Amino acid sequence: MDFAIKIEDLTIDYNGKIAVDSLSVNFEADKFIAIVGPNGSGKSSLLNAITGLTKCSKGKIDVAGIKNSKDRSRIIGYVPQIKTLDRNFPAKALELVASGYKKNWPGKLSSNMKDIAHEALEMIGADSLADKQLAEMSGGELQKVYLARALVKKPKILLLDEPATGIDMVCEQSLNHIIEKYKTENSATVVMVTHDWSSAYYHANNVLLLNKKKVYYGAAKEAFDNANLQLAFSHPGHKHNVEFGLRENA
Ligand code: ADP
Ligand code: MG
Repeated sequence: MDFAIKIEDLTIDYNGKIAVDSLSVNFEADKFIAIVGPNGSGKSSLLNAITGLTKCSKGKIDVAGIKNSKDRSRIIGYVPQIKTLDRNFPAKALELVASGYKKNWPGKLSSNMKDIAHEALEMIGADSLADKQLAEMSGGELQKVYLARALVKKPKILLLDEPATGIDMVCEQSLNHIIEKYKTENSATVVMVTHDWSSAYYHANNVLLLNKKKVYYGAAKEAFDNANLQLAFSHPGHKHNVEFGLRENA
């Protein structure tokens, strides 16, 4: 079994307003895939549809051949863009990580559950945060804890929606390396929405440029070709003449 995601003619609309338009793309197993596109281009809707949280209006998504979308949660780890948790919720990092293991808030943690949650934090080098209250954490620390929460079940597919938002560049680079290490050690497939083209360029095997429709899917090198970026980011009729640049060491 490989853990690829096959998307066929997918359309998502919200009360008639199209968010993703006739998208067909194959995310190959064991690859690091970046999704890049302007605000409102359907990136989060696409990830939500892969998890089964958002319904497809048309088309289909095959996740590793698993028919029932409820069963997908066994193999998918997800760091959503909008965190529903109140930052002032009186909980420790370890409890938030453990909540990724069960659907419900875990209550008092068993010692076995504690071990599992510690292991996930250790995996990303953040075990020192275990006893910290959520309200006391920086944005970057909180993102790491959410990543540990997504990894707690050792998923074969990891979906990340702008995991680096609100964190500084050094933290972002370490986050990218943590994700890449997890992918390699677990033969996982990573699908990451990012605004950071340099991260996508240097870390992803393939890039999907999305603007409701597929603008481009393939090797990162060609994705960041000016013509493709113009297509994805400019409005037709008034080209912005932006020169797109990439950082040296992402
Ligand atoms: P992105 O993640 O690329 O910024 P989204 O997938 O969040 O884009 O949103 C795509 C479009 O769908 C936007 O116009 C947004 O307003 C709309 N949208 C997203 N979620 C919902 C929802 N739950 N109900 C109605 N409209 C939504
Ligand atoms: Mg989004």
